[in-house]
Order: sequence, then C-alpha cells, then structure tokens
Amino acid sequence: MKVSSKLLAAVAALFLIAAAPRQEPGSFLIAGARVADGTGAPLVAADVRVAGDRIVEVGKLSPKDGERVIRGEKLVLAPGFIDVHNHSDEGLATDPLAETQISQGITTLVLGSDGESPWPIAAYLDECAKAPAAVNVMTMVGHATVRSLVMGKDYKRKSTAEETAKMAALVTQGMKEGAMGLSSGLEYDVGSYSSTEELVALSRSAAQYGGFYMTHSRDEADKSFEAMDEALAISKQGGLPLDISHIKLATMGVWGQSKRAVALIDAARAKGQDVTADCYPYEAWHANIEVLVPDKQYFNAKSVARALADVGGAERVTITACKAHPTYAGKNLEQIARSEGISTTELFARIVKDGGADVIGHSMKTEDVDTFYRQPWVMVASDGGIAVDHPRGAGTFPRVLGRFVREKHLFSLEEAVRKMTSLPAARMSLKDRGRIAPGMKADLVLFNPETVIDRSTFEDPRKLSEGIELVVVNGEAVWSEGKPTGAKPGRVLRGVRP
Ligand SMILES: [Zn+2]
Repeated sequence: MKVSSKLLAAVAALFLIAAAPRQEPGSFLIAGARVADGTGAPLVAADVRVAGDRIVEVGKLSPKDGERVIRGEKLVLAPGFIDVHNHSDEGLATDPLAETQISQGITTLVLGSDGESPWPIAAYLDECAKAPAAVNVMTMVGHATVRSLVMGKDYKRKSTAEETAKMAALVTQGMKEGAMGLSSGLEYDVGSYSSTEELVALSRSAAQYGGFYMTHSRDEADKSFEAMDEALAISKQGGLPLDISHIKLATMGVWGQSKRAVALIDAARAKGQDVTADCYPYEAWHANIEVLVPDKQYFNAKSVARALADVGGAERVTITACKAHPTYAGKNLEQIARSEGISTTELFARIVKDGGADVIGHSMKTEDVDTFYRQPWVMVASDGGIAVDHPRGAGTFPRVLGRFVREKHLFSLEEAVRKMTSLPAARMSLKDRGRIAPGMKADLVLFNPETVIDRSTFEDPRKLSEGIELVVVNGEAVWSEGKPTGAKPGRVLRGVRP
C-alpha cells in the first residue's frame, strides 16, 4: 500500500485526536480529497471540517490555527458505509474493534437479519451501549426469534390466531425498544412453517412504529418468483416498506432470469410501493446445508440428488464448518463422497443426521449478480460479519469499489458510494448519516480509488481488504495505517418512537 509521507504524518496526527479527551474534541480538516457525498452527485474537490462527532463545514477551507490537517490528495472521501445485513451479533462482544468490518470502510452494522435477532432488544442494545465497539450498531427484530419465544419447540406448523397475536405483541415490544423493523428468514427451519398471514400480522405491528420488512425470502431457487410475490404481498398488506435481503437466483431453473425479477420489483415500485433489495457481490451463497433441499426430504436420495443437480452439481457445494466431521471443512461434497467411498446423497444424509454443516454454494450467475447490482434500488450489503467464513465477511465493500466499479465499470464510483451510504441510510431512517454535509455525523471513509480491493478468498475468507486508508466513526479515527486505532466510538442507533 502506497501512502504519501504527508498522509502518514497527517494520519499520525489524527491518532493524537483519537487519544485526546473526548469532552474537548478538537476540530480537524480532511483536505485535498475528492468528495463522494453519498447522494450519487459527481465527485467534487472539497475540504471537510469535523468538530466533535459532526461534519461542520464542507468546501474550500483553510486550516485554523493549530488545527490538524489530513491530506487527501488522490483519495476519495465518502460517508461511512452502512451494512444493512450483518451477522456480527455475537462477534462484537469479543471483537469490538471489528477489524474485518472497519477495514472495509463499514461504520454502521445492522444486526438481527434473516429472522434471528438478539432478545430482548433493549437489553442487547443497552449492553452494546455500555461496551461500545468501533462501529455503530442497529438491529431488526427477528420473526423466528419471536416465533420461538411463543411456540417453543412446537413450531413445525402454522401458528394459531392467539399465537400470532402474542408474536405481534413481541414485535411491538421490540420496535418500542429500538428495533428498525421486522426481519424474516423463511428458508430457515423456524420461519419456514409460518403462513403469509402470520407475517402480515407481524408486519402491521412493525409498521405502526415506522418499521420496514426485511426478508430472506421463502425460496431463492426454483420458486424465487413466488417468494418475491409473497414478500411484495406481505409488504403491501402489512403497510410497510420492503427490503429483499441478498437478492439472488441460485438454481439452474432460474439462472439468467434476473431481468424478470427486476421487472417484478420495478412494477411494484411504479405503483408506489417502497421496495429495495440488497446484494452481496459474489456468485456463491453461505448457509446451512439443509437449505439446499427445499422439500426438507434430507434422507430421500431422489430429493437430495435433484437438489444437488439444481445448483449445478455436488462439486459446487463446499463445507465450511461441520462439528461432527471437522475434516470435511474446505472440501466439496463430491470430493468428500469420493474419499469416503459413498454417494453424495448418502454423504448428505450422514451430515444432516450428525448435526448438519455450514456450506458455501457456488450457484449464482455473474450476469444475474451484475443485473441486480445495476438497479438503483439495490444496496451493497455483506450478509457477512466479524467472523464469517465466506469472503464477503471481510471483502464486500472494497470488492464493489475495486472490481465492479474500477475493473468492470458496472456503474460509477459515485453510484457505488450511494448504494453504500445514503440509500441504506434512508432505508434505516437515519437522517443524520449517509451523506457528507454540514450537520451530519462524522462517519467517514478515505480510500484510494486506484487501489481499493478485497483480498479475502474462499480459501482465506478473513484476509483484510486494501486501499481503505482512514475510517472515522462519530468524529474519531478507528482505522488508519492499515490497522485499528483502538478507538471504540461506535454508538447504538435506536429507532425514534412516538
Ligand atoms: Zn439470509
């Protein structure tokens, strides 16, 4: 990483600011960078002054007496990246510096996605506030979380009206305690047994408090379109905005049909429905092995064989973690079956019987990922987190800037930054983040547009990205000179409730 000596000196100076007493925050100036303000407007040469936790001035500025100056020549200054789908729920407690996250320029994490959230929300957020991290934290309230609280182990059925009402009351409680909306994971076990009606009822509770519905939809395979229809219907009947999590088409039966999905969502948007989606920039997903078989017939060789064929073959499914068989990690189902001398369907049954496994499925098409990414309503989100064994956990945001913008020219740098900042800020109802303007909170990322790139791979998923030179959270540097500064200025961001 090439950094000018001036920048190094300036960054070193910022260290001093980070170490200074918090009650007397000095101002500092980031000068000479080109600013991507988060709105998608063209890059503009401007200096940015930060005082305390806010941006106070933007324009042609000269340093005040004794003011620290960070030189940003050849660099781009953007608002901090907001990751609306992040699985650091547990990792933050043990790794509050969140190196894999801040090294990507992420300054705010939204937790509680895929239907699973911390609970109770208030207790969790209070804990986060007491032991701050380097990043800001927000959460959703999880559908499977409240479903489990109400139905316990007896969840493999539709809920009764009484149970649905109890769940709705818990969603209300979660929203009052600061959640931003309702999340669901309908491809996963607990959520999968719920009816559309149950989700509509819970959505209405979230809607009352200004929340939105975020869904890992019921099917990301052959029934993707039915699942999108259901998500749109829940949002419409629930009376709240929709975000489709990690939009994808992950089986041969729907490969190449991203334009049809886009048309479906565009049509809803044209009728006034508030719909967004987020997408991680990879052709491979990461989940538990059971999601491969939508009919849940894990011990039926025919069902499993069909499921494996649908994703392009057993060699496309790699185990990342398996408690019962740790030696399987890093190998694909085809390789393991061969070395064990059994069929891939026998292997699948064995793994599920022995407690399951986490897998990566290389089963999306580049053209579909690209088509989704080009849509103005698609946000960048990682579906990763602090300790995730998929390269998206450490590489998502630099990958979009380096590969999608610089190498593939899928869209402009300014548009990429918008997808990482003001678009997710609007989705999360954050009025004072996601843009560079006077009065906004000083969450900032200074990066080199010529070198920014992800380095995490499927073999080495936590390898840190390059080209993110400086990350500021609430006015304090958290990442500089290629490492965390040790500062933990992150805050809990709760929804504002009437
Ligand atoms: Zn998911």
